[in-house]
Amino acid sequence: MIQNILDFFRNLPAKQCVDCGKPIEEQHECYGNKCDHCMGVSDI
Ligand SMILES: [Zn+2]
Repeated sequence: MIQNILDFFRNLPAKQCVDCGKPIEEQHECYGNKCDHCMGVSDI
């Protein structure tokens, strides 16, 4: 069961940032389609 779920997520196509086109590794579903960088990293 759990193994199937892991395979399911592994098989999902990687998200791509709509701004820079880089693949989004994070799984922040609430972030939409932008990578952390394009989301506005103002801390640094
Ligand atoms: Zn980006």
